[in-house]
Amino acid sequence: MRRKGLASMAVQTVASTPSSDPAARTGTVDLGPAAALSCRECGERTPLGPVFACEACFGPLEVAYDLPGGSEAAEALRKRIEAGPNNIWRYAPLLPVPADVAEKPNVNPGFTKLVKADRLAAELGVTGGLHVKDDSGNPTHSFKDRVVAIAVEAARAFGFTTLSCSSTGNLAGAVGAAAARAGLRSCVFIPHDLEAGKVVMAAVYGGDLVGIEGTYDDVNRFCSELIGDPIGEGWGFVNVNLRPYYAEGSKTLAYEICEQLGWRLPDNLVVPIASGSQLTKIDKGLRELISLGLVEDKPYKIFGAQAEGCSPVSKAFKDGHDVVRPVKPDTIAKSLAIGNPADGPYVLDIARRTGGAVEDVTDEQVVDAIKLLARTEGIFAETAGGVTVGVLRKLIESGRLDPAGETVVLNTGDGLKTLDAVAPTTGPSATIRPTLESFREAGLA
Ligand SMILES: *Cc1c(COP(=O)(O)O)cnc(C)c1O
Ligand SMILES: [Zn+2]
Repeated sequence: MRRKGLASMAVQTVASTPSSDPAARTGTVDLGPAAALSCRECGERTPLGPVFACEACFGPLEVAYDLPGGSEAAEALRKRIEAGPNNIWRYAPLLPVPADVAEKPNVNPGFTKLVKADRLAAELGVTGGLHVKDDSGNPTHSFKDRVVAIAVEAARAFGFTTLSCSSTGNLAGAVGAAAARAGLRSCVFIPHDLEAGKVVMAAVYGGDLVGIEGTYDDVNRFCSELIGDPIGEGWGFVNVNLRPYYAEGSKTLAYEICEQLGWRLPDNLVVPIASGSQLTKIDKGLRELISLGLVEDKPYKIFGAQAEGCSPVSKAFKDGHDVVRPVKPDTIAKSLAIGNPADGPYVLDIARRTGGAVEDVTDEQVVDAIKLLARTEGIFAETAGGVTVGVLRKLIESGRLDPAGETVVLNTGDGLKTLDAVAPTTGPSATIRPTLESFREAGLA
């Protein structure tokens, strides 16, 4: 049921109006160094446009670039990046965005803290150095602001006036905020049974929020239908028809981690998996830094992390399969609860190629890991951060992650979004009368 008429909602600041002629949208778009879209399966190239599947083989499309080369170019590029703003736009020369991107209204995510986690390292037995990349510090408190910021630029370039998405929660909030800031209409779709905090955060920015009776995969299917329907004309779905651009935002995590380590690659990265997009683009970002000469080439291992209640990629990895069999999610880690992960097969390739692994942890281990991170480092992670820290612990205990290597574990969201996960087992040490005697009796003096 719609709360408001769609037509009455239009708030448009973009110069172009949406056109029913796709060629008009692909004509002269300025997305900086982005040269074309290329198929990840067959390599076929397509002009930049709001498309996501290869016409030749239906494979997923990704952005292909004309990037600078040579060692002299590397030095100049490094200087230019270091002189840039303290957000993802410092990497604009490596992203599908126009050169003047930093001057347009955008929520400007990124350059979040890389926290040296010595106390957590001691607890886990990591001796080679452990860092937490803490993306809870983004404008809407999850890593999703990175990907949405790039999608907004693509939406502007293609003349879309409504920003939309299918979301497990965090994306809906990020789209709502980014659309509000950019002066676009937003209409986002979520499963109806999300955490209250995520629902409020998705709704507060004033766009339309629609709860769908079904799982995330049902929401996704619905959105695909909407794109094919005249209702969806002029709509940019950040994770569907803008997906190739959106996905590139995750590269900025790789760039930041290496720059914050002093332009070095870590040995191990532990990354959460929902659709698997983030993990695959972190790998792409690392390989770009190597080929551009911005970091010295050396082996690195990427480890994927899932919750047991939604672990199709982990299962395929353990079974030695190349295909990922869809599951019906049942876990407290709702931000990662995608039962049919689009990038699953690519995640398997990367884990195997780099010598990493994909592992999963139970909901109980997720809660324990959230508390462990909070107790040792003062970082309150959402359930996705509990998944990565829990998986890191499991990988070390089973000897599959070398504790003598330099390791980066990602926290991709804020614990305030998933209070329900820890509320039942967290609370006051005591409740007392306001007297010293009562405090003594509580055994805390
Ligand atoms: C979306 C999300 C991810 C990763 O999603 P992918 O679909 O794998 O890119 C990780 N953590 C959080 C908190 C998220 O919201
Ligand atoms: Zn193809």
